[in-house]
Amino acid sequence: MMHVGIAGAGLAGRLLAWRLLRRGARVSLFDAASRDDRGSAGPTAAAMLSPTAELAVADTRIHELGQRSLGLWRPWLAQLQQESGRSVYFRQEGTLVVAHAPDRNALRHYAGLLRAQLAQAQFDAMVQAVDGAHIAALEPLLAGRFDDGLFLPVEGQLANDQLYEALAAALDAALERSGGAWHEGCPIDLVRAGELLARDGTRHAFDLTVDCRGIGARGEIPGLHGVRGEVLTVHAPGVQLRRPVRLIHPRYALYVAPRPGGRFVVGATELDSEDGGAISLRSTLELGSALYSLHPEFGEARVLRLAAALRPALPDRQPLAGADAEGVWRINGLFRHGYLIAPAVVAQVEAGIACALGLAAPGDAADVDAAGLAA
Ligand SMILES: Cc1cc2nc3c(=O)[nH]c(=O)nc-3n(C[C@H](O)[C@H](O)[C@H](O)COP(=O)(O)OP(=O)(O)OC[C@H]3O[C@@H](n4cnc5c(N)ncnc54)[C@H](O)[C@@H]3O)c2cc1C
Repeated sequence: MMHVGIAGAGLAGRLLAWRLLRRGARVSLFDAASRDDRGSAGPTAAAMLSPTAELAVADTRIHELGQRSLGLWRPWLAQLQQESGRSVYFRQEGTLVVAHAPDRNALRHYAGLLRAQLAQAQFDAMVQAVDGAHIAALEPLLAGRFDDGLFLPVEGQLANDQLYEALAAALDAALERSGGAWHEGCPIDLVRAGELLARDGTRHAFDLTVDCRGIGARGEIPGLHGVRGEVLTVHAPGVQLRRPVRLIHPRYALYVAPRPGGRFVVGATELDSEDGGAISLRSTLELGSALYSLHPEFGEARVLRLAAALRPALPDRQPLAGADAEGVWRINGLFRHGYLIAPAVVAQVEAGIACALGLAAPGDAADVDAAGLAA
């Protein structure tokens, strides 16, 4: 059985391990942290799946990868539920974008950024101007609070804490069956073709190696750097939102993403800093004020978590996915779009590795789609 060694058990590493195990590979995973650690980008993220909203800061390639990924998440999560016995909260009911009356120009500017990236027919299908009555119909909580907004109907979101747990549960059983293992608390200092060098001096040999260490691969990937992001998670059980709401403001763009159990994730700052330390007072105030300005009912929300992490980014803000000249496979540079684009990116790498190692042909409809991406 072909043995694949994956460095990094974050979003990319876990998803790829799961996909390769389903194709009959033996997989070993190595992570510097424990499986429940929440310090890296994956467990900190808001996990919004916003191909259109992100066009204000991303290009059409990210949009296209995001659109493909939205089509893959549903079947992948259904499969994952079958294997792990755990369901993952996933909703695709669109995103609502609003601005307070004095910030109307900022909303117009934002709409212009989306329009500039999309063909007219695409724009019409993906961006709807909404008035106060339409906003109230979509989100009764916001009735009377906003007169103008945009509704982006195809967007979604998922609960990343549940995804991480479901992947861990599915991986536990499958890794053991394959004869592989999950090495927690085992930092990898160097990834070579067919070999992982651990910080404790041990060397691990494989048929193929994949580097999914996120910002931990800094130094081995030219230009890879961290972009700091901070989020606030609150519990407000009496407050109802169905979908993520983005609040446009001239100084910052913030979002509120509803989660199961009355939780809301509010994010996110984007700072050109590699400081992964605790969230600043200023960011806490900005995120909290934005939430309160969305609706005063959030004033009594209980703060559950204040978190910061580094998004792994390349200078062109594009993902890196494939094998390098030395034969090391890598997934990195997912920046602020990891959840948005991971299925398409992972499927592409999965298909490439399957081809290189002669792994089994895919079995279900989602796999057939995924294999098509690599062609
Ligand atoms: C505040 C914030 C909000 C975000 N919101 C969104 C969002 O709404 N939608 C979206 O699509 N994306 C979002 N993202 C981006 C998303 O989280 C990242 O793109 C994604 O997590 C990157 O996945 P990754 O697997 O490459 O890296 P990570 O998730 O960072 O995982 C890397 C893994 O490698 C491990 N590791 C590091 N160094 C080593 C080493 N030397 N040896 C072994 N293991 C190592 C780490 O412990 C970790 O488990 C957000 C990110 C942040 C920080």
